[in-house]
Amino acid sequence: MRNNLLDTPIEFLKGVGPKRAQILKKEIEVFNFGGLLSLFPFRYIDKTKFENCGRLHSDIGEVQIKGVVRRITMEGQSRRKRLVVKLRDETGSIELVWFQGASYMQDKLVVGKSYVVYGRVNAYGSKLSIPHPEIEELRQSNSNEQKHFAPVYPSTDKLNSSGLDSKGRRKLVAAIFEKASASDFPESLPEYMLKKLSLIPRADAIQSIHFPKSEKALKDASNRLKFEELFFLQLGLLQNKYGRQQRNKGHVFEKVGDVFHTFFETKIPFELTGAQKRVIKEIRMDMKRGVQMNRLLQGDVGSGKTMVGLMCMLIAIDNGYQACMVAPTEILAQQHLESLSSYLEGMDIRVGLLTGSVKGKKRKQILEDLESGTLNILVGTHALFEDHVVFHNLGLAITDEQHRFGVAQRAKLWKKSKPFPPHILVMTATPIPRTLAMTLYGDLDVSVIDELPVGRKPVQTSHKTENHRASVFGFLRKELEKGRQAYIVYPLIEESEKLDLLNLEEGLESVQRSFPRPDYEVSVVHGRMKAADKEFEMQRFKRGETQIMVATTVIEVGVNVPNASIMIIENTERFGLSQLHQLRGRVGRGADQSYCILMSSFKLSSESKERIATMVRTTNGFEIAEADLKLRGPGAIAGTRQSGVLDLRIADLAKDGIILQTARQLAKLIMDKDPNLTSEANKRLKWWLDNHGPRSKGWSKIS
Ligand code: ADP
Ligand code: MG
Repeated sequence: MRNNLLDTPIEFLKGVGPKRAQILKKEIEVFNFGGLLSLFPFRYIDKTKFENCGRLHSDIGEVQIKGVVRRITMEGQSRRKRLVVKLRDETGSIELVWFQGASYMQDKLVVGKSYVVYGRVNAYGSKLSIPHPEIEELRQSNSNEQKHFAPVYPSTDKLNSSGLDSKGRRKLVAAIFEKASASDFPESLPEYMLKKLSLIPRADAIQSIHFPKSEKALKDASNRLKFEELFFLQLGLLQNKYGRQQRNKGHVFEKVGDVFHTFFETKIPFELTGAQKRVIKEIRMDMKRGVQMNRLLQGDVGSGKTMVGLMCMLIAIDNGYQACMVAPTEILAQQHLESLSSYLEGMDIRVGLLTGSVKGKKRKQILEDLESGTLNILVGTHALFEDHVVFHNLGLAITDEQHRFGVAQRAKLWKKSKPFPPHILVMTATPIPRTLAMTLYGDLDVSVIDELPVGRKPVQTSHKTENHRASVFGFLRKELEKGRQAYIVYPLIEESEKLDLLNLEEGLESVQRSFPRPDYEVSVVHGRMKAADKEFEMQRFKRGETQIMVATTVIEVGVNVPNASIMIIENTERFGLSQLHQLRGRVGRGADQSYCILMSSFKLSSESKERIATMVRTTNGFEIAEADLKLRGPGAIAGTRQSGVLDLRIADLAKDGIILQTARQLAKLIMDKDPNLTSEANKRLKWWLDNHGPRSKGWSKIS
């Protein structure tokens, strides 16, 4: 196999040389021929079609036209000179304008000759022009060549000023193809896959992605390359997953015993949802295989994750092990303790709490009971990760809200059990779109609770602007009179912290004016307050001593006050979708109908409008996450930023869900049958994965 043309250093390419090579290396990390080819165009100029001059308008964008130059004039003076060229076809005319290189263009263009012009239509009032178009003389001989899709590459100022803009790059890429043959682009996929999926050969795809001959050729090329990218990513993720499972043996929870059954039959105050049952089963099967479980449990706020977590802990206890549940804050740990204790009331199970504020004798006792094994379940905060916290035999560790624990803390958790690490279950109320989860957590197991308990009344959401303030407060007053409580939330974003605080204070004043003492009591909580003061205010609200809680987003996570049934969000346009969803999750926890009112200014960007419309339309976290992915792209979704697996070259997780699913299914099928890729049919896959696979990328690690 002749396979070194693409490794040729870039300075040896015709038209490059040492100086440009330096720039290519520095600006876009292109070191050799292959490197240049692997930077795919991000769009194409459709040069197969010509627009009529008579049909141009201000919103038409970029167009290709052809016509005859009728007039060439230099307008303005000295340094402010501009060249204005009138181009005409059978339907009308347009002005082409140059501010730079005006004299050069003046010499180059000839009145009476025909040209092909490409550029963006600009409007000054009602007058249309095309500033700095690409222009080329129309010749009979090249008129066919001029009709094609021209690639546009991502560029930088430096590249542009060195003749390495898209036009320059096209020439270089073409020069490589001139020297190359099909064998320079070895096939990565086995024949049976190409056939089954009707994919075009790799060599053709690379050629066509740079220089497509037709729309269909472009589509075939991009399909093929997207599939390849996603498929090898998935294959790599699965290889990683199976590798880890082979390395990390786990405690075997072989039975479901008395504790679980007693609880299930006599203690659960409601019927489990189908999704809860399914997920408990998935986890149970996972914990008896002798392999360490590493599982993410996704479910919307209120979907009943805590109950699932509890029942899994009972399985651990049935098998003679301890379990722990770790929350990101003291308040949440306290809440978990309360709900677990009340679920387990009357059963012979000991639950303890360990947080930073558990001190002295109490702490000593907890630690002793933990080590002796008298304690079955430990609930806590990261205080639980400390080295002197020793379990008798930890079998299952559950953490709530994964993005808040660091890697080092997770590593400590792993070491808290012998001879194997504990089974790990990470619960998150931040739904991640399926396509994203498949990639971001592709080497983990994921369980999804996609069903809310029956009888929940979805939060009613509406959008209001400032001129509705009086009626919003009127509505609030009525609800408060029924004995309900309300949150009013202000954005607090670091860059404008001072201004935001001012906002919050003004808001607070207006709330206090409309809801004066002694009839109403208002709590305030924001990030600048001391932890103890925050806690004090939250507790007052929780106990019902205050009716309104004015707060910044500190209440986003987990606070549970079932009597709070109204959420007013101020400056809604400044919140992201997932944040809005989390905030709204604070209400709708009790039996009463709950309301969420999204306040915003009257003028909104189209993205803000779309976000607000999504919130009004649905309460389903997965649907909201999908919308967020479409609006902002994968990089903007919480927790995805650091992940190398999302640096995709051509595939787009927001758009290529179907290709991704096919890739995932096929990768799984292959890995299940031939995990080491030793079969003859899969030889190519192994070769490609070893040499070009996404191995070096940062894999997700949730625990
Ligand atoms: P999450 O942690 O997913 O936000 P929780 O576990 O805190 O949800 O459950 C929210 C509320 O719903 C709790 O009051 C819980 O007791 C209740 N709950 C959980 N599962 C069910 C169910 N299957 N049917 C009715 N209520 C349920
Ligand atoms: Mg919860």
